[in-house]
Amino acid sequence: MAAGEQVSNIFDTILVLDFGSQYSHLITRRLREFNIYAEMLPCTQKISELGWTPKGVILSGGPYSVYAEDAPHVDHAIFDLNVPILGICYGMQELAWINGKQVGRGDKREYGPATLKVIDNSNPLFKGMNDSTVWMSHGDKLHGLPTGYKTIAVSDNSPYCGIVHETKAIYGIQFHPEVTHSTQGKTLLKNFAVELCHTKQNWTMENFIDTEINRIRNLVGPTAEVIGAVSGGVDSTVASKLMTEAIGDRFHAILVDNGVLRLNEAANVKKTLVEGLGINLDVVDASEEFLTKLKGVTDPEKKRKIIGNTFIHVFEREAEKIKPKDGKEIQFLLQGTLYPDVIESISFKGPSQTIKTHHNVGGLLENMKLKLIEPLRELFKDEVRHLGELLGIPHDLVWRHPFPGPGIAIRVLGEVTKEQVEIARKADNIYIEEIKKAGLYNQISQAFACLLPVKSVGVMGDQRTYDQVIALRAIETTDFMTADWFPFEHSFLKKVASRIVNEVDGVARVTYDITSKPPATVEWE
Ligand code: GLN
Repeated sequence: MAAGEQVSNIFDTILVLDFGSQYSHLITRRLREFNIYAEMLPCTQKISELGWTPKGVILSGGPYSVYAEDAPHVDHAIFDLNVPILGICYGMQELAWINGKQVGRGDKREYGPATLKVIDNSNPLFKGMNDSTVWMSHGDKLHGLPTGYKTIAVSDNSPYCGIVHETKAIYGIQFHPEVTHSTQGKTLLKNFAVELCHTKQNWTMENFIDTEINRIRNLVGPTAEVIGAVSGGVDSTVASKLMTEAIGDRFHAILVDNGVLRLNEAANVKKTLVEGLGINLDVVDASEEFLTKLKGVTDPEKKRKIIGNTFIHVFEREAEKIKPKDGKEIQFLLQGTLYPDVIESISFKGPSQTIKTHHNVGGLLENMKLKLIEPLRELFKDEVRHLGELLGIPHDLVWRHPFPGPGIAIRVLGEVTKEQVEIARKADNIYIEEIKKAGLYNQISQAFACLLPVKSVGVMGDQRTYDQVIALRAIETTDFMTADWFPFEHSFLKKVASRIVNEVDGVARVTYDITSKPPATVEWE
């Protein structure tokens, strides 16, 4: 991507340098809540290789001790940018280390709430704030003031809880303003960006649409074509709609029906995307191909691999068919990567950094010699949803629960056959329908039905039955890292169980999964 096309060159941007704290991404998150654009990069980022000029720099916290031999250190070129700098915890210790090395082990670790006492109320960093609760998480501390600094705030255990350079806008704070336990932390971050860095608060999804459409047009140029896979989920639909707005029918969307999609999914996606949103979409029915390859396979990892590889194969074949139609070359592959994936791949984890490349995308890029286009890579999930609403994508789709790539294949435990998929699909459809009817869909993060590979005895109409078991799952979570099961009313579960057993042939029994994550995962396979 050419430097001139970066979002950080278009919007005023705060650069967050990540030293590996578990809270680093929250700094970015909080600033964006104030319509301030912020981007996070690893602490090892060379400023000369940045390609854009930040309005301010924030140094995050981190697990290291600045005085340790292998501790990460910031590129000193940040001081030549002549923009305000804010060091948070490790970031503050780093500033002190650079200016006199007054950092060492504290007498005791400090973890949890403390009271911030502001000494200099007139300092713009504390505008609109008063003494408040802040969140501490450190074992090291400043043993004295760094050269050229003064104290502007204290706490009981930290005499240098807030410091500032005598003549430059360089700040350090011992606490974490980015976590919600710091009751006025958001205000402090906003003050830093707005009062000190004079960042424009123009990061809105309305502005993003305009700039992104221009950016896509410049990047793709007047003739090149773009191809992308849609899944029926929010990310790929939003990305596709954005591409369509930018380059019209030069964007080709493909939905591969792998035979393990939800009930009536392919037809529904076609209707919404083509008729509703004007997206140039081809639906490819490859269900027989997928199901044939899945025959006899019961191992979950094998199922995932088969589906991933078959997908690449089918997608490439379909892309070939599109080419001769207009005689032009497909040059780009659209991918709905979101900012949390980007953060995950760049976040500082010590000397070795792990980069995660999506299995499917990696393969396609290599085989098809395509360049990647990722219009959502700067956005958090809630920003994507907001964008979706603005682009006119139906509300139900924008707020849809996530659905795994291998689809119902990992919700049919054991061998995947057409008949088994049909049972799981119908049960799932009834379950989701009832959840929506009860007005619970938006309170639940993800819900689905699983078909278990066991048989159980039942009795229906005086006849003995010997049929399968459906397990229902519904979880609440904010980040999908940990999750708890949703506490349905008994009457709700009763209704769903009775409908599934009555309406879905082959099911004799329904159970509800009451395991949290961890120890269980969200999906069963
Ligand atoms: N590792 C440093 C300490 O223990 C910094 C901690 C942090 O940034 N949260 O003090």
